Amino acid sequence: MPLWQPGTGRARMRRVGREDVIAMSEKRLRKLVDRYRVTSGKGFRLKDHDPADTGGPLVNHAESEAMLADGVRRLADLQELLYPQDQWALLCVFQAMDAAGKDGTIKHVMSGVNPQGVFVASFKQPGPEDLSHDFLWRVSRELPQRGQIGVFNRSHYEEVLVVRVHPELLTRQHLPPALTGKKVWKQRLEDIASYEQYLSRQGFVILKFFLHLSREEQKRRFLERLETPDKNWKFSAADLAERDHWDEYMTAYEEAIAGTAAPYAPWFVVPADHKWFTRVVVVEAMIAALEDLNLHVPDVTAEQREKLAAAKRALEAEKG
Ligand code: ATP
Ligand code: MG
Repeated sequence: MPLWQPGTGRARMRRVGREDVIAMSEKRLRKLVDRYRVTSGKGFRLKDHDPADTGGPLVNHAESEAMLADGVRRLADLQELLYPQDQWALLCVFQAMDAAGKDGTIKHVMSGVNPQGVFVASFKQPGPEDLSHDFLWRVSRELPQRGQIGVFNRSHYEEVLVVRVHPELLTRQHLPPALTGKKVWKQRLEDIASYEQYLSRQGFVILKFFLHLSREEQKRRFLERLETPDKNWKFSAADLAERDHWDEYMTAYEEAIAGTAAPYAPWFVVPADHKWFTRVVVVEAMIAALEDLNLHVPDVTAEQREKLAAAKRALEAEKG
């Protein structure tokens, strides 16, 4: 049960009662998640989404820390139900430009869950073995098992993002030239959409997060990395080079989201200029998806109950 109470004030809380406050909170959090969910590519434009958005009246900065802490707890509780049920797997894909906060978001949001039920995969540049296979090969190897939460830090989407912005990467993929014509990006998006549909039919709940950072905020964060000794290690000259391709990346993201947004594999275009806000939206989106599964502790059959009773009798009969 959420412990977080919206900023309704103590007096009002007494009047409406704790259960009502919880219901109001849940409604508000659902609205927040709905606001950033994209389930169809029809008319999708990135410019309609503001990276500096902080949810209007739905959240305020002062309460965000308590909301996140509460979200982390509720996510942990839901994971405890996902695991024994052993049917569904939750797959969370994180994509973003450098310094958008992928790592920090994953770290904070997943901080409460049982590590045994989580599987995190970071997709870097593919190696020779990866390149001698189809591009989804390495993705399939990193999928979570049923009952687990899988986190993809970058993903198969790099194949229609960085590879599209740097077509020389495509030439390293050993593809027959006849298959790398102009249509290749559209075809890859179709293939990704079909793959995700297949996974959804196998019991994967897929959530895709695009942490939407503005170019100005990225500059500010890069400068902070350069100016703060403790953050120097985070800076990479390669990230600066990618920044020069900003517009090409935005076009590639827009087409990727438009081409693969579906009810069974929604995108969340999460404003990323304010880290506190990004984290709240991500944790609540994960909670909403798990709540929709109506998870419960597995039922005990009559036969199992009989075995449990026998085990209890055996233990009680032990001497000493
Ligand atoms: P951080 O910088 O916070 O450690 P990161 O995800 O940026 O996280 P890096 O090791 O800096 O990690 O970068 C990984 C690189 O691998 C990115 O530049 C990404 O574009 C690249 N990459 C990932 N998948 C592919 C792919 N399929 N083809 C080519 N490059 C890829
Ligand atoms: Mg990097």
